Amino acid sequence: RFISLEGGEGVGKSTQLAALATALEGRGIEVLVTREPGGSSGAEAIRKLLLEGEETRWNPRSEALLFAAARADHVEKTIKPALAEGKWVLSDRFLDSSLAYQGEAGGLGIEAVRDLHRFGSLDFLPDRTLVLRLESGEGALRARRRDGEEGDRIGSRPPRYHAAVDRGFRVMAEQEPDRVKLIDAEGNPETVTARLLYALGDLLP
Ligand code: C5P
Repeated sequence: RFISLEGGEGVGKSTQLAALATALEGRGIEVLVTREPGGSSGAEAIRKLLLEGEETRWNPRSEALLFAAARADHVEKTIKPALAEGKWVLSDRFLDSSLAYQGEAGGLGIEAVRDLHRFGSLDFLPDRTLVLRLESGEGALRARRRDGEEGDRIGSRPPRYHAAVDRGFRVMAEQEPDRVKLIDAEGNPETVTARLLYALGDLLP
């Protein structure tokens, strides 16, 4: 099975990714944890181009193409081979981040970014996408506290950008309710992990 974990800033995605992998392994599942952008040598090279430059380095269309190119390499070189070996693949972000960040928040439109994915990765989709969400934009505040006022390229984004990302994820959950599940990220980490497992209930052995 291929599972992606998504969410805006400061929702505890890294903690939950590790906890979910451990929980799945505890059920006897062999899990490959990977991430986006990245997850294969070509895609990690593109990640550097995307995340280590200044925010203004790429225009939105170039940025979306780089994300799509990285994803195509990641799918072909890492995800599909692991699935063929019978592993579960757990990815820290996947297509839905591009739909929310580049498509909805970046203004390119969700459909345009979907088209890039159709071309680049032949519309290869996760079996399930879990989107961690905090009501009230608390996540962006947490991320800002964590990263400092300077922040990285992300910390400097205005609240309406984070709101647009969240709206993008909600649109995806409406368009594809069987694949994309919104998960309440409020509460202690164990509770949130239990919610994630519950949302995978029908896929678990
Ligand atoms: O939070 P994480 O470490 O996964 O994020 C890396 C950063 O890259 C995010 O903060 C997000 O703003 C950005 N990103 C993006 N578009 C994507 C994926 C990630 O802008 N498709």
